[in-house]
Amino acid sequence: MRLVCASANPDKVAEIQAILGDSIELAPRPTDVPDVVEDADTLLGNARLKAAAIGAATGEPAVADDTGLEVDALGGAPGVYSARYAGDGCTYADNVAKLLAELSDRTDRSARFRTVAIVVWPDGSETAVEGECRGRIATAPTGDSGFGYDPIFVPDDGDGRTFAELSADEKHAVSHRGRAFRALLDALLSGAG
Ligand code: IMP
Repeated sequence: MRLVCASANPDKVAEIQAILGDSIELAPRPTDVPDVVEDADTLLGNARLKAAAIGAATGEPAVADDTGLEVDALGGAPGVYSARYAGDGCTYADNVAKLLAELSDRTDRSARFRTVAIVVWPDGSETAVEGECRGRIATAPTGDSGFGYDPIFVPDDGDGRTFAELSADEKHAVSHRGRAFRALLDALLSGAG
């Protein structure tokens, strides 16, 4: 089975390929297909926008994912707006600083990362799954690996280190994205649609 990946980020494509294994060939997004505006208000909606656009451009089955960090004390924010929580053009460090400020007087620091992964097939049908990783938001950043909110996210299924203190393999054994793509692989191999 061959899927075209909606992501143009080679690291992300390699990571997803490693999870999906040999039974699925992941092709990178053709360079002439422009970025999709991710303006849906759900993770599923944004993942679907990305996969459908690549599918329409290539005529092939397309796979996409979308992730959000949902903080309980903030009613699930930043959620689908995680990438631009501190405003358009913000950096990962800006987002981390804003989240720490929002939680400065909160004792409940529980949160989860949630990833939706979807395949849109050429006939318009979909296979969609989700993966979550529960944890808590640390009071200060620690660690240099990873990206985004990794320096302040401590997974419950761990030993107290933040995602940014884990190796890539350690992170994806418990991460939202690891779980979502393992669930997607199960769904594809079992023929679920
Ligand atoms: P995307 O949908 O994978 O592009 O993720 C949206 C945003 O969520 C990113 O810009 C990051 O801020 C955050 N994010 C997604 N996955 C992770 C992760 O594994 N660790 C930390 N932050 C993440």
